[in-house]
Amino acid sequence: MPEIEILLPGFSINTDQATLGLCTVTLVRGEKLTVVDVGHFGRRSMLVDTLRAHGLEPEDIGRVILTHAHWDHSQNTDLFPNAEIVISKRELEYSRNPRAGDYATAKYFADTLAGHDVVEVAGETQIEEGIGTMDTPGHTAGHHSVLVQTSEGLVCLGGDAVSDAGAVRRGLPAFVFWSVEEAQASLKKIFDASSVIYPGHDRPFKVTGDEIEYLVDAPTIKISGFLDATRDMVSVELGLPPKFTPRINPDALPDAQRPAGLQV
Ligand SMILES: [Zn+2]
Repeated sequence: MPEIEILLPGFSINTDQATLGLCTVTLVRGEKLTVVDVGHFGRRSMLVDTLRAHGLEPEDIGRVILTHAHWDHSQNTDLFPNAEIVISKRELEYSRNPRAGDYATAKYFADTLAGHDVVEVAGETQIEEGIGTMDTPGHTAGHHSVLVQTSEGLVCLGGDAVSDAGAVRRGLPAFVFWSVEEAQASLKKIFDASSVIYPGHDRPFKVTGDEIEYLVDAPTIKISGFLDATRDMVSVELGLPPKFTPRINPDALPDAQRPAGLQV
């Protein structure tokens, strides 16, 4: 049965100076080693290091599935010389003439796949036992998502059709470049199919009724650089501190809850 591991965590964090584009990159261990979304050049060395930490070289990867053609999900396909590239037929067509305003799709994207076996899919497919795709358009015209039957149930790798857990409450992914109606329908389709979601730019989570439960702890992101050559490097670390619990003076507790022996 296939199993999923996160190679690079996804973030919904950007700056006022640039879009960071840090998408979730996952490894699916099945009949083949499959990487779902490959990240952008800025994460390339980190991706290689992480694969090696898993005992793998890029040459070991037999398949790459791209949820869509956006630069932050697709730039590193050439890192995997032995991988077939699975992408939706509609997305490949769309990428050659992306909608004006879709600043994240490079018109030359399809050319970057030269030298690979490209498997164009449509509708609901089975890629191998326990791994399939389904169309989830809206974020882009041909976005599709990956369904993996794991030992812990059916998991959806939702790419940017489910950019982040907040999509559950919004009913929309964070960005819609193609169709709001299709994006809403795709979200519903994903939540109907699976309650365990690996979003494109957030941690994996589970939906039970109205509750969102993250399945892994929040990663941190450290931003550093030189703002002024005469001073030291500056850095800032973003992350979630431990959950806050109120500090209560024992005297403030009702008598029944006051620790035994406490003299007031
Ligand atoms: Zn995208």
